[in-house]
Amino acid sequence: MAVTRELPTKALIGGMWVTGSGPLMEVRSAWSERVVSRIATCTAADVDRAVQAARVAQPGWAGLALVERVELVREMHRVVVAHGEELAQMITLETGKTINETREEIYEYSAPSYQKAAEEVLRHRGMTLPSTQERANNKRLILSHRPVGVVAVITPYNFPTDIASIAIAHAVASGNTVVWKPSEWAATSCAMLAELFAEAGFPSGVVNLVQGYGEVGAALVEHDDVDAVFFTGSTATGEKISRAAGLKKQLLELGGDGPQIVLADADIDAAVEGAVLGCFYLAGQVCTSAERILVHEHVHDEFVRKLKLRTASLRVGDPTDEATEMGPLCNDTTLARVTKHVEDARARGAEVIQFGKPDGVFYPPTILTGVTPEMEIARNETFGPVAPIIKISSTDEAIRIANDSDLGLNAAVYTRDLATAFRVGEALQHGTVNINESTNYWDQLAPFGGTGKSGVGRELSQWFLDTFTETKLLNIDLNDAPKGDRRVLRDVAED
Ligand code: NAD
Repeated sequence: MAVTRELPTKALIGGMWVTGSGPLMEVRSAWSERVVSRIATCTAADVDRAVQAARVAQPGWAGLALVERVELVREMHRVVVAHGEELAQMITLETGKTINETREEIYEYSAPSYQKAAEEVLRHRGMTLPSTQERANNKRLILSHRPVGVVAVITPYNFPTDIASIAIAHAVASGNTVVWKPSEWAATSCAMLAELFAEAGFPSGVVNLVQGYGEVGAALVEHDDVDAVFFTGSTATGEKISRAAGLKKQLLELGGDGPQIVLADADIDAAVEGAVLGCFYLAGQVCTSAERILVHEHVHDEFVRKLKLRTASLRVGDPTDEATEMGPLCNDTTLARVTKHVEDARARGAEVIQFGKPDGVFYPPTILTGVTPEMEIARNETFGPVAPIIKISSTDEAIRIANDSDLGLNAAVYTRDLATAFRVGEALQHGTVNINESTNYWDQLAPFGGTGKSGVGRELSQWFLDTFTETKLLNIDLNDAPKGDRRVLRDVAED
């Protein structure tokens, strides 16, 4: 089913769809060589209008009864599902994600984010604290959460509606308003998602959308009236954003280095399946991809043989075909990086095994053996369909190589020994370590985020709500009895 209706080409500011004042941006589908749409980009003045619209809408939105806010957020779940197929088709056209992957993105992740945020905000509890500062029973200390205000949401191309939905759902559920700058590679599908907030009944100005390239995101981050920044994207962009954001609250989800460790006692078939998912799902364009596979020498040859067999069976090609298991890369920037990393590995002595010939952004599933930690492919995020295999001779060596990285998002360890699983899991510096599961495994209610240059903070469920609310303490004196003696600590010391 191709999307045939008129596509949104404007920005959403204060409930109105307005033409951005900047030049037209061609949204290109690299794999189909089509121009999907022409969207007017926003200028700094447009960004300012969007931020002001969010600012004006915020007090009223935060002032709604919580159950009313929650009803609207929950309604968004239903509306996204109702429009799911056209959203999935558009993401496939824009980014080259396979139609199965985009349906999963919509129905498993994007839409349920609204349901989950609506549930989670009801459980975002405050607390009362004991009074310890004086010898009297006069004080009541009450801790609650209040929204930070206006949140900038800047998102990447690989899960364009999922990552945005997670952020927007939690930000608005907790009483914030949002200005969203989606990826230029998925700007049409993201605008289609933005249209749905009105259908769900959201008041004007609660969710605003600005369009364009990096400079539009930069204008948003720098804007004085933005209170918090949510960003998911590359480490290089994240570092720029972090510097520009100054004292604004920040949640940054950046690149990954995904080590998958396969120890001598591992279930090799399970480890091979983990590598196929970790390296070839979404053609490897996942922050949690298996970027380095560290395989013990005792099982190395068996692992490589089985991985080759399994990879040869993958159906690669047209992302709109439901039978396709791996599609193309999204864009030429990604293609150039993947090609550079593979050629660097080849030049330094790795064996390159490809299951097909590179054809534009259709890059074949690729296995590299004989990879060493110095090669670029093992040092920097590749973000492509490549399984680089490093042979290791001990568990300690695996830990050392895995931790020799600036990044630290997801890692995976395959072993049948419980003690080893704990020891290695605890020794790895990564934000998440999956035992006997692919690096790509995550849970929508568990904290997600990386260490080092993989990010700042944790997203999902309560961790998201904590970031996008301020902790507010109310100290109340009942004022119905004399003030208490404050010499609490001196008296204790004298006792
Ligand atoms: P990118 O950094 O190129 O772009 C992401 C967004 O930032 C886009 O909307 C872009 O227009 C905007 N942008 C660019 N420069 C900016 C600036 N100076 N100020 C503000 N905004 C700016 O990333 P990408 O290529 O779209 O996505 C791939 C990267 O995202 C990979 O590194 C991947 O690991 C990472 N990623 C991380 C996670 C995570 O949860 N850790 C999830 C998905 C993707």
